[in-house]
Amino acid sequence: MKKPKIAFFDFACCEGCQLQVANMGEGVLDVLAAFDVVEWREVMSEKWDKKYDVAIIEGSITDNHAVKRIKKIRKKTDILLAYGSCATIGGVNGMKNNFELDDIRKYVYGESYKFFPTEITKAVHQVVKVDYFVNGCPVYIPEFVTVLKAVLQGIPYYVPDYAVCVECKLNENVCMYAKGITCLGPLTRAGCNSWCINNGNICYGCRGMVSNPNEKSAQDILAKYNIPIELIMNKMNMYNKCREIV
Ligand code: SF4
Ligand code: SF4
Ligand code: SF4
Repeated sequence: MKKPKIAFFDFACCEGCQLQVANMGEGVLDVLAAFDVVEWREVMSEKWDKKYDVAIIEGSITDNHAVKRIKKIRKKTDILLAYGSCATIGGVNGMKNNFELDDIRKYVYGESYKFFPTEITKAVHQVVKVDYFVNGCPVYIPEFVTVLKAVLQGIPYYVPDYAVCVECKLNENVCMYAKGITCLGPLTRAGCNSWCINNGNICYGCRGMVSNPNEKSAQDILAKYNIPIELIMNKMNMYNKCREIV
């Protein structure tokens, strides 16, 4: 049986998700052995100008050039997978959408800002059809592998729409709130197996918000810490600018 051709592409991002995959080391070879990798700028110099079966997209769409490029990629691939929060919910890049574009351009480029066109940040699915989503900043590699297996089997993958707390409890972690530390797990989509909490950190909401966050309960808990819920929701909303995920 012929292996599916797979190509990796990056748009506006820090390339941290690609690095996560590249850092899998030999493990990456096991998974990717099932594919024929034809293009991946971070790890190989070859380019592929024909059709591929799977395109893996990292980063957000932030200018007209990127819109044209992602549409071209979509036409050349059967399956398109968006990975990392930049690609799935806007993430760090999406925070730009909370401000006037010209103010942002001036802040970054100073007086030369007019030479640097930009558009509001879009997640990949806001420009082209996306078949698979892998959230996270960066992606959680075991979930990425699960999604690649789903691609190979031709079955869907649904991003969990329950809170990180569910996975955190299953992992028997002591809750950060019990230690007097705030944590965004109750509002954040699971799927990372409570990665950060397992390693002694808080959840900072990198996978984006669940679709129906329980603001009332979060408000009750945060009141004990004199933290207004609006502060947390504003932060989450800033980061989740493009979050409608199917
Ligand atoms: S999701 Fe995070 S780690 Fe991945 S490319 Fe974007 S900023 Fe970097
Ligand atoms: S540590 Fe965070 S993620 Fe875990 S149960 Fe507590 S609030 Fe939820
Ligand atoms: S625990 Fe929270 S911050 Fe850490 S990877 Fe999971 S969603 Fe992201």
